[in-house]
Amino acid sequence: MAATRRLAAILAADVVGYSRLMGADEEGTHERLKAHLAQLVEPKIEEHRGRVVKNTGDGLLAEFASVIEAVACAVAVQREMAERNAGIADERRITFRIGGNLGDIIVEDGDIHGDGVNIAARLEGIAEPGGICISEDAFRQVRGKVDAEFVDIGEQTLKNIARPLRVYRILPQSPLPRPPPLAGAEVNAMAEDSFDYDLLVIGSGPAGQRAAIQGAKLNKKVAIVERKAVIGGSSVNLGTIPSKTLREAALDLCGYRAREFYGASYTVKERITMQDLLFRTDQVIEHEIDVTRHQLRRNGVELIAATASFVAPNTVRLDYVEGGHSRRVKARKIVIAAGAETARDQHIAFDGKLIFTSDDVLQLDRLPRTLAVVGAGVIGCEYASIFAALGVRVTLIDRRARLLPFVDQEIVDEFCHHLRENRATLRLNESVDRLEIIEDGNGTRVRIHLDSGKTILAEKALYSVGRTGAVSQLNLAEAGLEPDSRGRLAVDDHYRTHVPNIYAVGDMIGFPALASTSMEQGRLAVCHAFGVKTHSAPERFPYGIYAVPEISMVGRNEGELTEAATPYEVGKARYKEIARGQILGDVIGLLKLIFHSESRQLLGVHIIGEGASELIHIGQAVLSFGGRIDYFIDTVFNYPTLAECYKVAAFDGINRLGILGSPDDLFKTAR
Ligand SMILES: Cc1cc2nc3c(=O)[nH]c(=O)nc-3n(C[C@H](O)[C@H](O)[C@H](O)COP(=O)(O)OP(=O)(O)OC[C@H]3O[C@@H](n4cnc5c(N)ncnc54)[C@H](O)[C@@H]3O)c2cc1C
Repeated sequence: MAATRRLAAILAADVVGYSRLMGADEEGTHERLKAHLAQLVEPKIEEHRGRVVKNTGDGLLAEFASVIEAVACAVAVQREMAERNAGIADERRITFRIGGNLGDIIVEDGDIHGDGVNIAARLEGIAEPGGICISEDAFRQVRGKVDAEFVDIGEQTLKNIARPLRVYRILPQSPLPRPPPLAGAEVNAMAEDSFDYDLLVIGSGPAGQRAAIQGAKLNKKVAIVERKAVIGGSSVNLGTIPSKTLREAALDLCGYRAREFYGASYTVKERITMQDLLFRTDQVIEHEIDVTRHQLRRNGVELIAATASFVAPNTVRLDYVEGGHSRRVKARKIVIAAGAETARDQHIAFDGKLIFTSDDVLQLDRLPRTLAVVGAGVIGCEYASIFAALGVRVTLIDRRARLLPFVDQEIVDEFCHHLRENRATLRLNESVDRLEIIEDGNGTRVRIHLDSGKTILAEKALYSVGRTGAVSQLNLAEAGLEPDSRGRLAVDDHYRTHVPNIYAVGDMIGFPALASTSMEQGRLAVCHAFGVKTHSAPERFPYGIYAVPEISMVGRNEGELTEAATPYEVGKARYKEIARGQILGDVIGLLKLIFHSESRQLLGVHIIGEGASELIHIGQAVLSFGGRIDYFIDTVFNYPTLAECYKVAAFDGINRLGILGSPDDLFKTAR
């Protein structure tokens, strides 16, 4: 859950109010308050998966897994406070106020009361319909920051607050609506031909978001169903965004980019902790979730917090995350964008700390000194290289003979060389037999037994052997669908399954299983579903691997072209030949163009080094327009930039063809 850790609430004791309540002077109250914080409040925060991040004089700033947890914690504290204060205060019904930044939650007799000040609850959509009131103070703090409408309802007298307060009502517009009251019924009685939605999207990851927004742009009635309390899918909460932010934080803090100038031992911070790395990650995740929610809401997409399962090809049962309700909805078109889950071997004792998966990285208590990474796919390679850059001794194990089989061999060789430079050990062609947790005088560690008889000892092990489609709750059989053994659904060129009204996109359909391609698939599927023509060329999608160093590619690689018997030549540029490469201190970077040796048409671009995943888009554009490498020769790039590599590589390629002369001559030759 660390991926959803967000600054959720301030638990602040109102000292003045508290003094009155305790019938004590302010100083004595402070003492009692401190004792209460230690004995009652802090343990409750822990119980609700939160942690104190700052003491704020008369209160605590605490961070929770979600606002829901924060509210639950607040209520728990309130209840116990009420018991403790029984008989002490003249007015014991309101016992403790919670909130400052996010507004107060006022509890009476153990329940959140109607006129309570509860913006935290409102933000997560858990407040009762009918709206919630906040004080003027809270209103000022959240105005402009929260996507909601406020109505000034004038001065009100609130319990335990001496003077009347100006109060604002937040209009009910919950982002994650509760189910409509169904009087206990599970099923909506519905006419056979009536549809609740034109489009129902299952899953709020990148694929689902784009599908839903595209549907809304086509003026369709759209709902998106998400089973988790937070939207965004693996991309925002567990995968793309956290890992990329963590990478950036790691490279900044360990001074990686400056090592060429200041030496391999250069570092910006001496002892880098997981907390240092997570500080940045949490902020980015929170922002991304807010932006996504805002976008969906702005486009009029209904967000439903429920688990979806099919009961028929057009009908889906929604089991709401909260309240235990369920109902059935019918949609003309359904897009399954349920994503994928980390593959876990049942025989391995995952504890999320010693033996963990990529889902648990943000939960790690500390950076290990040694780490074994089982599985050298994209995720394994990314994390192995990030941890190696941080100075962790990494062993990367894979049963295949080479890493990243879909990447150009030369780029993979460069990557392996760099991993070894960072003291990583590669154990390829090795299968893992079992993982064992051992405890001796040196502490608790993981011993990995390989089929070859070798063993590897590490403080922690990251198990990263792939992902399988998240089909377990979808009840696909009722829709007439059957996933393959890895939980993937088969689709045609328009992302339609063999059931005409059902589409599947994103990780659910397997390779390339990227956030970038998932978004595009979502858009294309919905366009097709509603008869809108599109022009997209999946073969020219770029691929980015955010390892250290970064790798990116578009088009064909040498291996594929050799196999297809296509005559080609390559042109290369090393970053160290380019002024910008020298300025950055990236001397290992390489950009490689592959082009047809007769027509000089660009066939592929492969890059390893700083900014590879940005730089690739120049090549992608030329490739998409069927351009030749002559374009790079005839083009002026900003100087000094890494883009200049394109020009240098093009000249290198031309030289390899043995063509001499000016660019004009070259152009004529090519015609
Ligand atoms: C560590 C890591 C790093 C990555 N790095 C990159 C990267 O750098 N670049 C890149 O492009 N891609 C990257 N990816 C891949 C990227 O995250 C996925 O390709 C992308 O998230 C897939 O999007 P999706 O919408 O198909 O699925 P997801 O993002 O997984 O979203 C699916 C959603 O569906 C919900 N759901 C599932 N079943 C149900 C149900 N029955 N009812 C309701 N809701 C349901 C899930 O809770 C989830 O929120 C990375 C992945 C990982 C794990």
